[in-house]
Amino acid sequence: MAPSITIPVHHVTKAPKRLSGDSFIQPHIRKIPTNQPVLPLEVFSSRLGKKPEEIIKLDANESPYGPPPEVFEALQDLKHPNIYPDPECRQLRTALAKDSGLGANHIIVGSGADELIEMIFRCVLVPGDRILDCPPTFPVYAHQAAVSGALLVKVPRKKSDYSLDVQLIEKMVDKERPKCVFLASPNNPEGSIVNDEVLLKILDMHVLVILDEAYIEFSGMESRMKWVEKYENLIVLRTFSKFAGLAGLRVGYGAFPLSIIEHFWKVKLTYNVSITAQAAACAALQNPAYLEKVKVALVQERERLFTLLKGVPFLKPSPSYANHFLCEVAPEMDAEKLKDDLESMGVFLFCLEFDFGSAFATRPSEWTAS
Ligand SMILES: *Cc1c(COP(=O)(O)O)cnc(C)c1O
Repeated sequence: MAPSITIPVHHVTKAPKRLSGDSFIQPHIRKIPTNQPVLPLEVFSSRLGKKPEEIIKLDANESPYGPPPEVFEALQDLKHPNIYPDPECRQLRTALAKDSGLGANHIIVGSGADELIEMIFRCVLVPGDRILDCPPTFPVYAHQAAVSGALLVKVPRKKSDYSLDVQLIEKMVDKERPKCVFLASPNNPEGSIVNDEVLLKILDMHVLVILDEAYIEFSGMESRMKWVEKYENLIVLRTFSKFAGLAGLRVGYGAFPLSIIEHFWKVKLTYNVSITAQAAACAALQNPAYLEKVKVALVQERERLFTLLKGVPFLKPSPSYANHFLCEVAPEMDAEKLKDDLESMGVFLFCLEFDFGSAFATRPSEWTAS
C-alpha cells in the first residue's frame, strides 16, 4: 500500500480572502514604472492624415531603404510554414560565419539583438548582482537590469564628446564588482565609438564586456566579432535591424567565446527565430552590393544633414559613426515642442533628456535620468 499522510484540519492554511492580481508579481518588477509603448507607423499615419510612405520616421534608427529585393522573393517562396524553424539557424549561422570569418560554433541567432541582451541577463545575473552602464546609452540595458533585479552601476560618459570615462569605469569595477559592462559602439543615441585602446583596457578588467555593434556597418570600422576567439570575457552583438532593413522581422546575433556559448544554447528558447526571419536574413546576405549601396547612401545623408544642422544656431549635433545622430537643443528652446512641431510636419524624432551627473550604484527603479 502506498504510504499516505493525513493533515490535521487546523494545519491547512486558509487562503487569504482576496488577493490583488499584482501580489503574484515579483516585488522588483512591481516597482518598475509602466513604459510608454512605441506607436506603430499606421497610428502615426492615420493621426496625421498622411500615407505611411510620406512619413519620415527617424525615431528608431530603422533603414528607410528596406532590405534587398531577394528578401521579398524569399518570403514569397516560404515552403513549410507548418514546420517549426531550425532551432540552430544552421543556414544563417553558416552564412554569418562566411561573412565574418568567425566559426559558426561561436554564433547564436536571436529574435533581434534585444533577445540576446535578455539572454545575457538570464545566463549571467542573479537578483542583486550589478551591471555597469555608461549613460547616455541604449536604454534596454538598464531596463533589463531592472527586470532582473540587478543593481545598476552608472558611469556617465564624458560630457565633451560622449567618450567613456575609462578611469572611472576601472574604479567602479574594482569597487562595485559588476558582473558585466554594456558598451554600444557606435553608441545609441549619439554614435561615438569605442577604440581599440579603450576596449583593450576594459577587457583587461575583471568583468564580462558586452560590445553592442548594432551600427558597426556605418562606422567604417571592422567588427570585433573575431576578438571572441581571444577574449573569454567578450560577447559581441550585431543585428539585421539597422543596416539590413529587417527591424520588423527581428533577427540579431551574438559572437561568444566557446566557454560561454554552450550555456547560452541551454537557455535559448528552442524556436526563437521564425522561418520567415531566418529566410529573410539569409536572403539579405545574398546581396552584399545592395547593402553596401544603402550604407553609402545613409552615411552620405548623415554627413549632409550633420553639416546642415550645424548651421542651425540652437542645435548642436554630435559627430556620429552610426546611421543617426544626437542634436543638443539650446536651453532657451523647448526640445519637446520642437519634436511635436516636426511631428505635425510628418518628421518623427526621439526626444530624450538626461543629466550626466556623477557615477553611482543604485537600483534602476531609483535611477532618475531618463
Ligand atoms: C536598435 C538597437 C539594438 C536592437 O536591435 P534589434 O536587433 O532590433 O533587437 C541593439 N542595440 C542598440 C544599441 C540599438 O540601437
